[in-house]
Amino acid sequence: MSDLTETADVVIVGGGSAGVVLAARLSQDPARTVLLLEAGHVYAPDAHPPALLDASKIADPDHDWGYTSRGNDQTPRIPTPRGKVLGGSSAVNAGVAVRARAADFAKWAGHGAEGWSFEDVLPAFRLLENTPTGDDAYHGRTGPLPIRQRTDEELTPSLGGFVEAAVAYGFERVYDRAERRRRLSGQRGGRSAAERGAGLSDRGRAPAAQPHRPRQCHR
Ligand SMILES: Cc1cc2nc3c(=O)[nH]c(=O)nc-3n(C[C@H](O)[C@H](O)[C@H](O)COP(=O)(O)OP(=O)(O)OC[C@H]3O[C@@H](n4cnc5c(N)ncnc54)[C@H](O)[C@@H]3O)c2cc1C
Repeated sequence: MSDLTETADVVIVGGGSAGVVLAARLSQDPARTVLLLEAGHVYAPDAHPPALLDASKIADPDHDWGYTSRGNDQTPRIPTPRGKVLGGSSAVNAGVAVRARAADFAKWAGHGAEGWSFEDVLPAFRLLENTPTGDDAYHGRTGPLPIRQRTDEELTPSLGGFVEAAVAYGFERVYDRAERRRRLSGQRGGRSAAERGAGLSDRGRAPAAQPHRPRQCHR
């Protein structure tokens, strides 16, 4: 909108992970006007500073709200990063793609969130994903979000060591939590090295604000 006296059908406050996707989807209808307000910097797609393009640099201080938080009066304040830039926290996060656990979706559905079971949301996960690995039943090949999983050979020594130690400790080696769910369907609980973060990688970032400019995320 060039003229600030114009009105918009929809006003979205905050161009973060949720806001930019909402704005993109809602403005697909040419009859609807959408105004997206973002407090932080807005970069052209080809003008992002290096710190935002590199997912090994999390919580870039130049694009952060500077919040701190504490558990209670007795505990020290700790930094609580939140992105302040178009793309929001997805522009400063670690670029790790993680789906919520099937048990979490079941819990939400159990509380009455209709349409939020794992089976209900799976088609949306497949549509947004673009990954060459995993089972077609659980993964998408053509979506806007590129997701790449490191092979064992690509793990850093510390990541590899963590996974090996977890497996030696008795955790199951899991390459794909979505597929694991199929095997465990009906069971409760369970724990795995992957579910505790092992094997995840963070070499790239795909901020929500620039899905047309793919970077790598990792599951
Ligand atoms: C350091 C860090 C690492 C993370 N790592 C991962 C990860 O690896 N994998 C993962 O899945 N998730 C990760 N997350 C979490 C994930 O990034 C967030 O859950 C997600 O981005 C939240 O989306 P959101 O739309 O709710 O908020 P945000 O993306 O934070 O967006 C909020 C937006 O609103 C803007 N805003 C706020 N107030 C105003 C205002 N008054 N007017 C205008 N604009 C305003 C902000 O500037 C921001 O752009 C990480 C988060 C952080 C901070």
